[in-house]
Amino acid sequence: MSTPEVSVIKMYAAREEIYPREIKGRYATLRWLCVWLTQLVFYGLPWLQWNDRQALLFDLGARKFYIFGIVLWPQDFIYLAVLLIICAYGLFLVTAVAGRVWCGFACPQTVYTEIFMWIERKIEGTRSARMRLDKQAWGIDKLWRKSAKHLVWGAVALWTGLTFVGYFTPVRSLIGAVASLGLGPWEWFWILFYSLATYGNAGWMREQVCKYMCPYARFQSSMFDKDTLIITYDTDRGEPRGPRAKKTVAPAANVQGDCIDCSMCVQVCPTGIDIRDGLQYECIGCAACIDACNSVMAKIDLPAGLIRYSTDHAITKKWSFAQMQARVLRPRVLIYTAILGLIITAFFVSLFMRTPLKMDVIRDRGSMGREVEDGMIENVYRLQIMNTDEASHHFKISVAGIDGIALASPDELDLEGTGSRAVPVRVRVAAGEGRSGSNKISFTLVATDHASQQVTEKAVFFVPRGAGHDDHDKHDKHDDH
Ligand code: SF4
Ligand code: SF4
Repeated sequence: MSTPEVSVIKMYAAREEIYPREIKGRYATLRWLCVWLTQLVFYGLPWLQWNDRQALLFDLGARKFYIFGIVLWPQDFIYLAVLLIICAYGLFLVTAVAGRVWCGFACPQTVYTEIFMWIERKIEGTRSARMRLDKQAWGIDKLWRKSAKHLVWGAVALWTGLTFVGYFTPVRSLIGAVASLGLGPWEWFWILFYSLATYGNAGWMREQVCKYMCPYARFQSSMFDKDTLIITYDTDRGEPRGPRAKKTVAPAANVQGDCIDCSMCVQVCPTGIDIRDGLQYECIGCAACIDACNSVMAKIDLPAGLIRYSTDHAITKKWSFAQMQARVLRPRVLIYTAILGLIITAFFVSLFMRTPLKMDVIRDRGSMGREVEDGMIENVYRLQIMNTDEASHHFKISVAGIDGIALASPDELDLEGTGSRAVPVRVRVAAGEGRSGSNKISFTLVATDHASQQVTEKAVFFVPRGAGHDDHDKHDKHDDH
């Protein structure tokens, strides 16, 4: 009896080291522009000041988000939620039009990998030098180069972690606290966590993050259609591939394609794939292979564009660039853009027109409604007043909803900018006013020095049974008020 064959399925594919070759070209320049731009914003923003405070600060302890001239409170969470929706929807739209352009140029994973690879090249040398270094036995040269690389990576990662936490704790005091080792445990945790994540993802894991960890990479193909930009190798033009001497284009034209099989497009690829095998999910759309192939084509006097941005339709229908471009503004894109434009407009209009004043009314559950002097009925409330403006204001509280209803406690207060206070208030109505049971009333808070800043909140006034009336007409009249 023959032994059954045993096949082993590996659940984990060991990582093969990729040594991307440095490439220069239009898209490499564009990617570095994105690196500079995103990092200037990320590292620079926490240092910007606004009204004597950090311009952008998410102060979780005080539960206030400072965004330049705007102060958001937990009650404004809706704005952050809508902002996230706008970002997600914007990414969705960009992906439908231009494919993985976000992944290839602006994603933090790409940006930090680019920075870390630049450091690696400066210390360990070119692609072949790095490959040699990794193969050679440990010695002084290898030791200092590897140590120096990891030290610089660590420093960049640590500064990135500090900057990240600087968005949640004022960065100037944070740096001082780090220097004096006076940080709290959570701040240490997040600095080290973010630093390690940067170091691990950009230094060690690199393309593994895109291939196995990023959820966006998994579902973005569902946003693609046949007119979405993808990076493609022109098989008709390139095949059959093979080496050729410079300027032998014409005689070989019928028997040989334009690809000279130099493998430059593979050597520059940060995910180690061969774009000539067709569109693959590992391709992050960085366009390094376009730069590489264009430089090869220039050297052998052939037109650029053997590898280029194209679309499924353009390839199968052999469209010109103009025909392909015309499909950018297709109905799906126009509808998505219109919806995104509407959401953004509504977001900003609502944000800039919101009243920088909030009030929560909390009824004193301990006393439903009690009789006080002269037979008056009194209810007690707590008004949580939040001045979300950065300037101090003087406020006046008023109450309405039942004939003769009035406050029996101070109705004016001062509140500093971005301050909040719980104000206990007593509200009274004369005996016989209001109906027995619940009565709808409302509190209004107005800034006396800025009348447009006012809010009204509804509440319930309780009249004990027998102390009010049951006249529905009168009650309806009260409701109308
Ligand atoms: S870089 Fe261009 S010519 Fe070289 S192998 Fe790639 S597709 Fe062929
Ligand atoms: S195939 Fe080209 S575009 Fe895709 S990841 Fe590799 S180099 Fe970048």
